[in-house]
Order: sequence, then C-alpha cells, then structure tokens
Amino acid sequence: MDIRSIRKDFPILSHKIYDSPLIYFDNAATTQKPRCVVEKIEEGYYNANANIHRGVHFLSQEATEAHEKARRTVQKFINARSSNEIVFTRGTTESVNLVSSIFADACMNEGDEVIVSVMEHHSNIVPWQIQAARKGIAIKVIPMNEKGELQMDVYRNLFSEKTKIVAVTHVSNVLGTINPVKEIIEIAHEHEVPVLIDGAQSVPHLKVDVQDLDAEFYAFSAHKIYGPTGIGVLYGKEEWLDKLPPYQGGGEMIASVTFEKTTFNELPFKFEAGTPDFIGSTAMAEALNYISALGLDNIAAWENELLQYATEKLNTIEHMRIFGQARHKSSVLSFLAGDIHHYDMGMLLDRLGIAVRTGHHCAQPLMQALGIEGTVRASFSFYNTKEEIDAFVAGIERVCKMFH
Ligand code: PLP
Repeated sequence: MDIRSIRKDFPILSHKIYDSPLIYFDNAATTQKPRCVVEKIEEGYYNANANIHRGVHFLSQEATEAHEKARRTVQKFINARSSNEIVFTRGTTESVNLVSSIFADACMNEGDEVIVSVMEHHSNIVPWQIQAARKGIAIKVIPMNEKGELQMDVYRNLFSEKTKIVAVTHVSNVLGTINPVKEIIEIAHEHEVPVLIDGAQSVPHLKVDVQDLDAEFYAFSAHKIYGPTGIGVLYGKEEWLDKLPPYQGGGEMIASVTFEKTTFNELPFKFEAGTPDFIGSTAMAEALNYISALGLDNIAAWENELLQYATEKLNTIEHMRIFGQARHKSSVLSFLAGDIHHYDMGMLLDRLGIAVRTGHHCAQPLMQALGIEGTVRASFSFYNTKEEIDAFVAGIERVCKMFH
C-alpha cells in the first residue's frame, strides 16, 4: 500500500494542531473519512435527496435504489446470504439494544442466562442489565487470563440449561485481543444457543465472513470503518429475524395498519421503523468500497506492522506497562507509563498534536479486572506511519522526563 498517497484521500490528516502536524491515534473511537465518503454525502443531498420507499416520483425511486444498493454492498462486504439479513441501525449500540430487547422479550424468562465476556464495551453490558432488571435474567461473565485472552475452559463450563444467548466482542477496544469467535460460536451451538457478536472493532481491521463464522447476529458501526456517524448495521440470520418481534413501531415497518390489527412488513423493513439514514447508508457503502479496494489483507498486514513497531519501541521506555498481550491482537495499544496519570499523558501528548484516548474506554468492568482506573490508548489505522509512531514515542519519553 502506498501510504503517502492514501493519506491524501484524508484531508484532515494534513491539519496542524498547536502548530504540530496532527498525529491521529484515536481510530478505535472513530476513524477519519476519505474524501470520497464526504463527497458521497454532499452528492446525496445535492442530487438524490427524497424520502425513500414510498415515493412514485423519480428522485424518490433513485434514492430508494441507492439505499438498497448500499444494503447489497454491506451484504457482500460481510458475505451475508441475503440482503434481507442486513438491518440498518444507528450503530453497534443500537444493534445490541435491538437484539437484547427483542430477544429477551421473545426468548427469555426469569432465571435465564446470557453469557458475555469481561472485556465487553458498556454497550454490550448495559443493554443486558436493562433486560436483567426487566425480566430477572442473569448475566454470566467469561474471565480472561493475564495476557488478556478469554479463558475458554471457563467459558465451556458457563453453560446450563438456562443459557439462552451468548454476546461477546470480536475484538477488544482496550486490549486489542482478537477473540476466537468462531470457536465461541461453535461451543454455543453445541448447546443450541445463538450468538451475538459485537463487531465494532473487528470489521475495520479483519475480513469478516458471517456465513463462515455462523453467528446469529453481528453488529457494527459505520463511523469506525471510515463511514459516516449515526449509521450502522445489525446482521441477523433470516430465520431469527423472521421469528423475532419488531423493535420499534412506526412507518416503513408495517404491511397494513388498522386500529384492530397491524401486520408487519417483510425483512429487513420490519426492523427499520421511520425514515432511515438513506444518505448515510450510501456513504457507508462508499467507505466499504474504499476499504475493499485497499484490501483488508493489506490493511491488516500494515496495521500489524505498526502495532509490532510501536510495541517494541514502547517496551524500551522505563516503567512502561502495556495492557493486552494476546497472541492475536489488533492495532490497539493500551498503556500506562510509571505512575503518570492517563489524563496527564493524554493532555500533554495532545499539546504535541498527538490524539490518543484516555480513561476507561467504556469498559469499566475490564478496568476493575485489571485493577486500574484507566489507560492511555493509541489505536492505529492503515493511514498511520512509522514516523508518526517515532514522534509518539518521543512524546511519551518527553512527558516521562517532565514527571521525573
Ligand atoms: N463495541 C465496541 C467494542 C466498541 O469499541 C464501541 C465503540 O467504541 C462500541 C461497541 C459502540 O459503538 P457505537 O458507539 O458506534 O455504537
């Protein structure tokens, strides 16, 4: 990959922050957008803006076709069997809320159990806690070892006849651990238990094939994969989406309405109440096409090289603690340098133009398991360079000197 020319596709990367070139290492929070994605949004509003699905007029039909074409692009990107299995949502958070809400309603009773992992983002914990409070269900947690890998032997023994669903993250947003989700799903299926995978941190970095994984549900957000904010995807196996009840009521999701009886629309529209983000969907498709053209294998190889390079360099710094040493790891580096508070490190790096994230990263139970309050997190994208990592490491060394 020609990183120098790729960077030209992302105008924001040439910005200066406090007179220093921006070094953007907050990609796990959100990614920057290539010009083609921003142009797609502009083009949508200028040339194809009309509400979709219900219109007989030209513009409405054109916008509808663009939206449905975007759905087929998503389908292809994750290799879903049918575009009926692609539900547009507001993002991973809404996708998880959708599944937890309708699944608990339709398939869970008091005393039933959901299995999650210790490294979940709050968005795959709190929705289940809301259902736990509503329905009296219990949450069981897969622990991890000291490297930040899930303890699969414990996981195998968490199942009981009360286990109704497993919901785990594919990649940890803090540790970078790439969980063995195929094995997790296989084990759940031995118990005839369906699985929801939180793919927020996986789809931007590795090739995801939902048929090969065989997950019942898979959730992700467009903004983490170079697309716009406010839109994301819930993949669901058709047989499951068919039998589950709708999530929200409104326009689009109905077949017919009378005050006596309402019937629901076919998939995927049954789950898409109200006017969808039809500009966002086409911009997301543009982002997926951009990624596909670069090639996820190339992206993974470069990001892995950046991760190895940064890890080696960070390890030369005195009193450096890196959290997450899994064998299979994505390009996320969480660390603490000596007793320097993560906020101090983050704020001082910011003064050098380096954007990192600090705090608990919406994973407080994981922080409790690690016995810390928070970390500094650098997360790399294919548009990052080794020179940026050099500047980042020099920045950390400078902050360390200031404190000692
Ligand atoms: N799951 C994981 C692993 C994440 O890292 C995030 C966001 O950081 C989310 C879920 C929530 O994503 P969103 O805020 O786009 O819904």
